[in-house]
Amino acid sequence: MIPGPIEFEPAVLQAMGAPTNSHVAPEFIECFGTALERMREVWLCPSGQPFILAGSGTLAMDTAGANLIENGDKALVISTGYFGHRYAKLLERYGADVTILNAEVGDVVPLDRVEQKLKETKYKILTFTHVDTSTAVLVDPRSIGALGQKYNVLTILDGVCSVGGEEIRQEEWGIDVVLTASQKAIGVPPGLALLVVSEKAMKVWSDRSTPVGNYYGDWTHWLPIMNAYESRKPAYFGTPAVNLVEALNVSLRSILAEGMDIRFARHRRSGSAIRAAMKALGLQQVPLADDIAANTLSALFYPNGIPGADLLREIHRSGIILAGGLHPDIKTRYFRIGHMGSVMQNDILATIAGIATGLENCGYQANASTALQTALSKLNTI
Ligand code: PMP
Repeated sequence: MIPGPIEFEPAVLQAMGAPTNSHVAPEFIECFGTALERMREVWLCPSGQPFILAGSGTLAMDTAGANLIENGDKALVISTGYFGHRYAKLLERYGADVTILNAEVGDVVPLDRVEQKLKETKYKILTFTHVDTSTAVLVDPRSIGALGQKYNVLTILDGVCSVGGEEIRQEEWGIDVVLTASQKAIGVPPGLALLVVSEKAMKVWSDRSTPVGNYYGDWTHWLPIMNAYESRKPAYFGTPAVNLVEALNVSLRSILAEGMDIRFARHRRSGSAIRAAMKALGLQQVPLADDIAANTLSALFYPNGIPGADLLREIHRSGIILAGGLHPDIKTRYFRIGHMGSVMQNDILATIAGIATGLENCGYQANASTALQTALSKLNTI
């Protein structure tokens, strides 16, 4: 129950273990082309350009930055934790003039502060982290997308901890790049960087006056490959991660079979059940309010006087693996629970019971039965 890599479905793992096809075999071409088409449906972005690259989520961030930034371009980074800071550093490497708006730990950056910046200065790019995995803070992409449209700024959503779990309607909400990695709510082992790019952002990229400062990630190399696979033709620039792409195709099929609206609602139910149960156990969450708390993971402070390492070890004895802290300001004071992808009601109840038992074993009075009942009522009613 960590926030990625998550647990993977047997059919996905079977695709990972199948004999590896040639990257130009007709079955693989069909599979790659279908995966690209399915990405548009999962991202809810019918006119977007999907990219599937071998690499982690950081490569997805990197390739969006490298292709859209030219030396001296102004970028506004909204940071709600560890990964916002990473995006600022990354854009600077490509010569961007970066302004960073930092939220307090557990909070979002107020929208009027963002709008004020956009009014003052003409930015080319605005980046934000939909769910910052270090704080479990959820940012509202719809209002940022609207600001991007109003001020004609390209918006990049880091959705590594959200795509396939949290609600995102890329096209309707006017977001230019939505990027993620395979190992979280997309449900595929680590190794794929996934992006869908709007027509507007592709035009900004094709109108560049300088070459992209990153050889591997340059869309000049990859756009013809994506186009070829989608037209069911062989092509080569760099060998694709064949088994991962086959696994992706399987996972995207099952995500679409569940249905995006149903999947978003299931994640909302899971998030609200975990939050309510943790509250019933007396634990305080890192996000300052429920309406800015993620549905794909939760971040909870350890109770006073309970050493974090002891608690995580006790919880592990029930077979539940949780993650420690990540945000440098509070790293030793909190832990994280991932609840995305194929995490179901029983996983959530087992996790709550495991946490309550772990707390009891550390000498903390925890009312497991109230926490479980509270969670059940959320799982069944919303
Ligand atoms: N952004 C967010 C929000 C993340 O959670 C992560 C990974 N945890 C990344 C970016 C970087 O992804 P990766 O570790 O796959 O490079």
